[in-house]
Amino acid sequence: MSKDYYSVLGVNKNASQEEIKKAFRKKAHEYHPDKGGDEKKFNEINEAYQVLGKADKRSQYDQFGSAAFSGGAPGQGQGFSGFSGAGGIDFDDLGDMFGGFSDIFGFGGGSKKQSQTKRGRDLELSINLEFNEAAFGVEREINYQRQNQCKTCDGQGGSDMKTCSTCKGQGKVMQVQRTILGNVQMQSTCPDCKGRGQKPSNVCSDCRGSGLSLEKMKFKVKIPAGIDDGESIRLAQRGEVASNGQAGDLYLRVSVKPHKEFVRQGSEIKSEQFINFTQAATGDKIDVKTIHGLVKLKIPEGTKSDTVFRLKNKGLPRIDSHSFGDHYVLIKIKVPKGLNRKQKKALEDLNL
Ligand SMILES: [Zn+2]
Ligand SMILES: [Zn+2]
Repeated sequence: MSKDYYSVLGVNKNASQEEIKKAFRKKAHEYHPDKGGDEKKFNEINEAYQVLGKADKRSQYDQFGSAAFSGGAPGQGQGFSGFSGAGGIDFDDLGDMFGGFSDIFGFGGGSKKQSQTKRGRDLELSINLEFNEAAFGVEREINYQRQNQCKTCDGQGGSDMKTCSTCKGQGKVMQVQRTILGNVQMQSTCPDCKGRGQKPSNVCSDCRGSGLSLEKMKFKVKIPAGIDDGESIRLAQRGEVASNGQAGDLYLRVSVKPHKEFVRQGSEIKSEQFINFTQAATGDKIDVKTIHGLVKLKIPEGTKSDTVFRLKNKGLPRIDSHSFGDHYVLIKIKVPKGLNRKQKKALEDLNL
């Protein structure tokens, strides 16, 4: 049975990673068992977040559904029967407000250190586009900073590497943690060498031994024609780089400025066009403004107000295809106002 993780978190399918994270925090807070919340619901929320919170797992889920994660996502914090269905609880994502909770279970700190051996964090930037830029595509220069391996020491934290004495080169240490469920033995990343198994004798002065530094990023991105408000572009491995060299992704979240006259719906455009009474009665050929320029539209005689005409392929390009949406024109008829006596008489004589 496939579960709808999006509805569990109460977000829509286009939600950004940041929105998912926010929704998770809010829900987790609400159903937090430590505060008398519903534990079953809390586990469900956590399971959903284990998948949707990670961009790679999320795209797998979008393709294959929750069946791809049967039994919940594999987690680091095994052995806690109360939360066995939940997989690993990501305390990093819960943030400080759950400080007390993670202390009880004794792996708040451990989970933070473990995350350093995973790939770097995904980053998100927002970009604002004009209506036509979104319609026809545009090239944008992107500027931001990300964490990357220190260039001076190649991420080693220094030179003259020696085997770490704390973990004997294993990169991991076993720790016995006291929890309310008793003593639990946990493996965590060596705090001394940050899991590398080696430590420099000469500590790098640029990164003070962390092996990480901030990198200025600047490059051009082609925004595809037809992108819509709220959609994101994923740039693989442009996110933060972890100390092991594995990079997260960068997401560009797109906001599109509304158009003054056009209403966009996906690849379709709607607009209103006023014609006068005579044009409606006798028919005419009018110019309609579209994103492709002026297009002739034949108004048949006897056209009623609120009639909709379709201009085929005059909408926006459909993303990932070479076709275009349509432009719909809603016809409104201007009723003459402020007529003089002679004009009124003439209309009355016509007896329409
Ligand atoms: Zn070590
Ligand atoms: Zn360095």
